Amino acid sequence: MKRTLSLSREKIHTGSLILVNSKHRYQETLKTSDPLAVLIPINENFPAVKLQRRAVVLLTSLMKEISGWHGITAVSGWRSFQEQEQIWNDTLREQGLSFTKKYVAAPGCSEHQTGLAVDLGQKQKTIDFIRPYFPYSGICQKFRSKAAEYGFIERYPAEKEAITGISHEPWHFRYVGAPHAQIMVRNNLTLEEYISFLEHFPRGERAYKIQSRNQQILISYQKFIPDSAATTLMIDSGLPCSISGNNTDGFIITEWK
Ligand SMILES: [Zn+2]
Repeated sequence: MKRTLSLSREKIHTGSLILVNSKHRYQETLKTSDPLAVLIPINENFPAVKLQRRAVVLLTSLMKEISGWHGITAVSGWRSFQEQEQIWNDTLREQGLSFTKKYVAAPGCSEHQTGLAVDLGQKQKTIDFIRPYFPYSGICQKFRSKAAEYGFIERYPAEKEAITGISHEPWHFRYVGAPHAQIMVRNNLTLEEYISFLEHFPRGERAYKIQSRNQQILISYQKFIPDSAATTLMIDSGLPCSISGNNTDGFIITEWK
């Protein structure tokens, strides 16, 4: 059995794979009806650090597996446009323009506005809010090595600064969901590169296929047809499927067979 899904233009800007950077702003005005996208506190110890529910659920499981909260603290999660603007202005005043451009995304262009990005720090007496200490050793590295399995990626690696436009940030993790995080890590792709890579798999022509335990996962890209009201998709009604916008020009469809 097949069913037809209709995807409106606004949906391009929602979902766990949206690319947000200096060229692709976050569309803040969009309100979602998706219960998994509701912003909730990471846990009772960090009531002010909120993420989308889908990211909180997976972060909680990951931290449980590694007993992570004993050694790791949540420094920053979701930010409103106004908060991002405040951080930009404060950092600019205190540290100057070149530092600010390196480590703070311009208001409207921060992943933190999506509720899918979290800054983590190793527990210490004083925590640097802009650049928390999150070394490649100990519990922090344990977190990093497990992150992809739970759908998180280290978003701004050192050798990819020219692509992401952001300096190396060992502390900033972005939820993109499974299996995408594992594919990105395995192939050493940033989100910028992964979104471009998936354009080689137009839906209906071919799919990127991976085998996960006893399931086959198919990933494909559907471009939004310009000047149309909505793009329609035919989906297998009995099979799990998730659809995310890419925040540029279309959708990424993930199907489990
Ligand atoms: Zn961050």
